[in-house]
Amino acid sequence: MDFDHSPRARDYAARLQAFMDAHVLPNEAEFERQVAGAAHGEFALPPLLAELQAKARAERLWNLFLPDPEHGAGLTNVDYAPLCEIMGRVYWAPEVFNCNAPDTGNMELLHDYGSEQQKSRWLAPLLRAEIRSAYCMTEPDVASSDATNIATSIVRDGDCYVINGRKWWTTNALHPNLGILIVMGRSNPDAPPHAQQSQILVEPDAPGVTIVRRLPVFGYHEAPNGHAEVRFENVRVPASNLILGEGRGFEIAQGRLGPGRIHHCMRSIGAAERALELMCRRLIERRAFGKTLAEQSAWEQRVAECRQAIDTSRLYVYRTAWLMDTAGNKAARSEIAGIKVTVPRMLQFVVDTAIQAFGGAGVTDDFGLAGMYARARTMRIVDGPDEVHNRTIARLEFRKYLPPKAPRG
Ligand SMILES: Cc1cc2nc3c(=O)[nH]c(=O)nc-3n(C[C@H](O)[C@H](O)[C@H](O)COP(=O)(O)OP(=O)(O)OC[C@H]3O[C@@H](n4cnc5c(N)ncnc54)[C@H](O)[C@@H]3O)c2cc1C
Repeated sequence: MDFDHSPRARDYAARLQAFMDAHVLPNEAEFERQVAGAAHGEFALPPLLAELQAKARAERLWNLFLPDPEHGAGLTNVDYAPLCEIMGRVYWAPEVFNCNAPDTGNMELLHDYGSEQQKSRWLAPLLRAEIRSAYCMTEPDVASSDATNIATSIVRDGDCYVINGRKWWTTNALHPNLGILIVMGRSNPDAPPHAQQSQILVEPDAPGVTIVRRLPVFGYHEAPNGHAEVRFENVRVPASNLILGEGRGFEIAQGRLGPGRIHHCMRSIGAAERALELMCRRLIERRAFGKTLAEQSAWEQRVAECRQAIDTSRLYVYRTAWLMDTAGNKAARSEIAGIKVTVPRMLQFVVDTAIQAFGGAGVTDDFGLAGMYARARTMRIVDGPDEVHNRTIARLEFRKYLPPKAPRG
């Protein structure tokens, strides 16, 4: 295994860290002030975000996630990992560099599977962060962790497809610059289960698209992106909006999720490092029962456990990144599933420990830990719950010991 970073990646990391120190970390309170209106339903674009995006783009700290060197940084997963970790220290920082979910996954999807017309219409403005995108797969009425359940219908009618269904947990649905929705739905109900679904592009102002309600996460609105329930009622879109072809929805979903999952994990390691740093600083400065909290042996134990948990997770993520780079995403299936379980659990543990170290202050918004906890907890559900990833791993393990299948005929 070779986890060494290329000179280009080291250069990016140094410039990214300098940008974070100069422009992002000093502006955390200002960002929160600018998005505070979301609590009353105002999802405006914070001027700070637009300003920092322009700076980041000018410094060529832009589209770092995209392996295609023509449109992005052209980095391997191993090279992107430390950059993602740096951005992950501040939850809104990835968008400053146009490296935020779900836009990154949607851009990769359009890049890999979109037609030339779809790319010029939606990928190009996404790469410039002029519009934002949403991915509509999960539905309130069915257990969506089994994607064969997805029930939204996509029916061909002349030169159009007609879409009917209800989605929820659509991230970015409330973003003021939302420009495109990628909707997964059933187009071929009589085909085998994995060939029934398709993905199609829908513009948010198409007649029949309705934002039903906002969905806060533990009370956090996560502006300017937000999450929402979205209804599609007889929405007609041109047939050319279908991505790749009828019945290819699963293939696209699989391709989209591998990189998306490792990016979540890389960012989570950055968030965990931030929580550990906050915790250590607090424990050093607070005194109880005649000595600092840091000198109490319970906290020595907990801080050490957090350090071990973060470092173990990072190595697992790096190994997965290396495997994806050298053997492909399919060969790394077990590892991708494994980090998607391990890393969010680690982050939840580290943030929970940090909250304990802060006492009552930990559950206020004064130190960012409560929001961090909310995001860490949802990470165990987003992009598939832990159980589904464990199922993937277990099935791959069992396969090693099952008798070989008899040849057909
Ligand atoms: C903050 C947030 C953002 C999100 N963003 C998006 C988005 O942008 N687009 C989108 O389409 N979706 C999004 N989601 C939805 C997310 O991907 C789904 O919630 C997730 O895939 C689970 O689907 P579900 O909610 O239907 O749960 P269900 O499928 O109903 O599962 C419920 C529970 O059942 C259990 N379970 C499921 N399968 C098994 C099994 N095989 N064995 C044992 N137990 C099992 C698990 O404990 C699981 O948590 C988001 C969710 C959140 C919370």
